[in-house]
Amino acid sequence: MVSQKMLELGQKRSVIREIFEYGNQRKAQIGAENVFDYSLGNPSVPAPQIVTDTLQQMIAQTPAAQLHAYTSAPGDPQVRKAIAEYITKTHGYAADPGNLYMTVGAAASLTISLKALVVPGDEVIALAPYFPEYRVFTEMTGARFVTVDTAQSNFQIDAACLAAAITPNTKAIIVNSPNNPTGAVLTEESVKNLTAVLTDKSAEYGHPIYLIADEPYRELVYDDIQVPYLPNYYPNTLVCYSFSKSLSLPGERIGYILVANEAADAQAVYAAVCGAGRALGFVCAPSLFQQLVGKCLGYTADISVYDENRKLLYQELTACGFEAVYPDGAFYLFVKSPEPDAYAFCDKAKQFELLLVPGDDFGCPGYVRISYCVTTEQVQRSLPAFRQLAKLYTGD
Ligand code: PLP
Repeated sequence: MVSQKMLELGQKRSVIREIFEYGNQRKAQIGAENVFDYSLGNPSVPAPQIVTDTLQQMIAQTPAAQLHAYTSAPGDPQVRKAIAEYITKTHGYAADPGNLYMTVGAAASLTISLKALVVPGDEVIALAPYFPEYRVFTEMTGARFVTVDTAQSNFQIDAACLAAAITPNTKAIIVNSPNNPTGAVLTEESVKNLTAVLTDKSAEYGHPIYLIADEPYRELVYDDIQVPYLPNYYPNTLVCYSFSKSLSLPGERIGYILVANEAADAQAVYAAVCGAGRALGFVCAPSLFQQLVGKCLGYTADISVYDENRKLLYQELTACGFEAVYPDGAFYLFVKSPEPDAYAFCDKAKQFELLLVPGDDFGCPGYVRISYCVTTEQVQRSLPAFRQLAKLYTGD
């Protein structure tokens, strides 16, 4: 007999994976160039050249036993120091390397942070639309997953809705900006509204409500948009960072958690992070890639392709009648389904070989996600298909 919960998780593929697998079958049948796959959020631009150069240099110059050795559980001290200095310089927040914990990407940053903070009976809030794995990660801890809708006009925080959802059991809220699946970036005003609610409610219920900032897309922003650094606004913050998207290294599994110095019980929270990492069996983050990211801080993959795709898709799709909020970051466009059932809409899109993901699993039915981390050539070739799809609804 196995764990029923784990069995269900293992057997039920995510909707995104289902569509991706369907896409692979379809590509084998009719040729990859004829399928417009917008399902996965896998970075399509290569890691910057400095990544390759640094890796080659490290392999050539470091004895193998050292290169592949375990590091201390929270991460290599020099790397943590370099990251803390980078954060301090870039975000004007005095990060303490003693509060940094290296992880295997944002997913691990989240599972460790949740395990560190949350006990069965607690509640964790996510703002909808949200990354579907938040539910899995939260429920694994025995906590209840609570969702709060953002405003559909711009996907910013609705402070009144949030305040109404907070109870004495609320332990944490997960915030993701730039956002998957909407591409929205929380404005400073939204952040101030959020932190005001959290401060009031923490005082009302007599315990801190932690803010978990999930930030794998921090560097993927366009048009000089600023992404507020949440520890500058709220003391009880844990930043869950990843290099998966910024350096196009999703398969290498590298990121970190930063516990804000000013967090209530910061030392205990950090120790619990270390304990959670241990309990979950992480041992340490990959040592080669710890060293690598320490040497590549401040570099970002060339996101100009995403920017071009963003403009092109938004312009062309809205011109043929689709509705969407112009994304400021990440590589997603969240489009309103022209019929209430987004699954039905996605099925119709498939007739034109367009693979879109229904918003339901993101906690936002009636929308679809387009992952535009693809070549601009694919975007261009797919535009006639989008126009034909639109015609099904406009009747032109
Ligand atoms: N959080 C969000 C919002 C994501 O979109 C993703 C991946 O797509 C993750 C976390 C997980 O990122 P990582 O690959 O760093 O684990």
